[in-house]
Amino acid sequence: MNVALVTGAGQGIGEAVALKLSALGAKVACVDLDGAKAAAVAAKAGGKGYKADVSNVAGFSDLLNQIEQDLGPVDGLVNVAGVCLTRPIGSVTPDEFALTFAVNVQGLFFLSRSVADRLVEHGATGAVVNMASVSAFLPKLEQIDYGASKAAVVSLTRSLALVYAAKGVRFNAVAPGMIDTPMTQANAQNRAKARGTTPQEQLDLLLKTVPMGRVGTPDDVAQTVAFLLSEESSYITGQTLDVCGGTLMR
Ligand code: NAP
Repeated sequence: MNVALVTGAGQGIGEAVALKLSALGAKVACVDLDGAKAAAVAAKAGGKGYKADVSNVAGFSDLLNQIEQDLGPVDGLVNVAGVCLTRPIGSVTPDEFALTFAVNVQGLFFLSRSVADRLVEHGATGAVVNMASVSAFLPKLEQIDYGASKAAVVSLTRSLALVYAAKGVRFNAVAPGMIDTPMTQANAQNRAKARGTTPQEQLDLLLKTVPMGRVGTPDDVAQTVAFLLSEESSYITGQTLDVCGGTLMR
């Protein structure tokens, strides 16, 4: 892999992925809603930061042209950007539902297709890794639309893998469990509000669902992503790999 595009690279899992891929020798395009955070991570990764909203599908062509001009054509894409709204089912609004799918599903699909089509046009090969979640398989009380969006990520990953399998572009997904990031802290706060408990109680409850007994680190996820982008996984496509300390065993 020469040039990797990582969305949601401003913090958490995306930041760890950007740093890992850069350590492995890739030029990394760090994309985030927050341009300053993207630039800060890019500076650490020796790459370049871009402010972009992955729900703005119309902007993908300009974004990819800019990255191609700055770093070269993208041959590794990691769709990390995601939103997870945590509230009781009765509070879910159509606008929130639409936002969850616009970011987690629609943006991921159209960016994946754009990158894959460019690779095919250039007669090049590449790989894409999508961020799913154990929530695709395990229902969560206050994350109805989030779980559905991550199930859609698993399904899209398989369909895209099938379409591009003979064209040299592999698609796989990673399903993280409980990972220590700002999203996990925010979810614990919102779940505590919904249940009338404390965020720490919610984090403790979640940890009880992890057989390995520890919270995952963003780097636990990043090293799996690096494997799925690398030639070491050259015969693997259409799979979802759980990185969850044993929460899910299938
Ligand atoms: P995070 O701490 O919330 O980081 C997500 C990053 O994505 C933020 O920098 C955020 O920017 C950015 N982002 C959000 N919406 C965006 C958009 N429309 N366009 C571009 N960037 C956007 O989340 P995380 O915990 O690292 O999670 C990363 C991914 O892993 C997500 O897809 C999440 O669903 C998945 N995941 C996480 C866990 C976990 O335990 N943490 C478990 C399973 C799956 P702003 O902060 O500026 O909004």
